[in-house]
Amino acid sequence: MSKKQYLLPGLILLIFETVAIALWLTKDNLFYLFNFSYIGAAIAFGLVLFIRRYRHARRVVQLLVGTYMLVYLGLICNENMQIEGFWYYLFLGVFEAATIHYAVAKIFGPLLFGRGWCGYACWTAMVLDFLPYKTPKHERKRLGWIRYITFAASLIFVSALFLSGVKDMARIMFWAFIFGNLAYYAAGIALAFAFKDNRAFCKYVCPVAVFMKPMSYFSLLRITCDKDKCVSCGRCRAVCPMDVDVTDNSRSRKNGTECILCMECVKTCPKGAL
Ligand code: SF4
Ligand code: SF4
Ligand code: SF4
Repeated sequence: MSKKQYLLPGLILLIFETVAIALWLTKDNLFYLFNFSYIGAAIAFGLVLFIRRYRHARRVVQLLVGTYMLVYLGLICNENMQIEGFWYYLFLGVFEAATIHYAVAKIFGPLLFGRGWCGYACWTAMVLDFLPYKTPKHERKRLGWIRYITFAASLIFVSALFLSGVKDMARIMFWAFIFGNLAYYAAGIALAFAFKDNRAFCKYVCPVAVFMKPMSYFSLLRITCDKDKCVSCGRCRAVCPMDVDVTDNSRSRKNGTECILCMECVKTCPKGAL
C-alpha cells in the first residue's frame, strides 16, 4: 500500500487544524481548537479506514461526528446547529456556533468537498442510513421543490421570533433544536419507508441542501470516471443512493450536486474506473 494514498487524510487533517488554530486565536476560545481538531481527526481516521478497505469506514466517521454534534454541541452545549440556529446567529450578527458551522460545512466547504457533510457528518442521515433501503428502489421523484418551502419556513420562523420581540430567545432556539430534530427524524424515517429510499428526506425535504447544491456544483473533490476503463456495466449507478450519473464527467451531470461522496460506486466498480 503506497504512502501516497495517505496524503488525502493528511491534507484533510491539515485543513481542519488550520481552521481550528485560526479560530482559536482569532476568537480567543479554546473550544474551536478542540472542536475542529476532533472533527478533522475523525474524518482523517475514516479516510485511513477507507484506504485500508474497511467496509464501514464512512459509517464510523458519520457516527463519530454526528453523535458529537447532536449530543455534545446540541444537547449538552445547547447550540442549535440546525438551519434555524444559523438564521438566529446571523440575525444576532455574531459569527459563532451555527454560523461558523454553516460557513465551514455547508456554504463554503462544499466548494472544496462538495456534499461531504451529507455523507460523513450529518446526524439526521446518520440514523437514516441504518434503515433498510440503502439504494433507492424506484426512480427519483420530482419533489425537490419541497426543500425550498422548508428553507423558507425556517427563515420565516426565526424572522417572526425576532420581529415579535419574544423574551428568552436562546431557550426557544434550544427547544426548536429538540423539536426540529424530532420532526426531521420522523419525516426522514416515514419518507424512507414510503419511497423505499433511505435518502428520500435528503432528496426532497432537507432545507440545508439549498445552500449546498449550488456550491457543490463547483466542488474540487468529485468522483470522475476513466472512460478508457469503463465498460458501461451500470453497477455504479445501481448502488448510488443519490441517483448520480457518475460516469458522466461533466459538472452538469444528472444529480451531480447530490453526490455525498459515499464511495459506494468506487467500491463497486469492477474495473477500477472511478
Ligand atoms: S441533505 Fe440534509 S438531512 Fe440529508 S445528509 Fe444532507 S444535511 Fe443531512
Ligand atoms: S455512489 Fe458515488 S456518485 Fe453516488 S453518492 Fe456515492 S460517491 Fe457519489
Ligand atoms: S461500475 Fe465502473 S465499469 Fe461499470 S459503468 Fe460504472 S464506472 Fe463503468
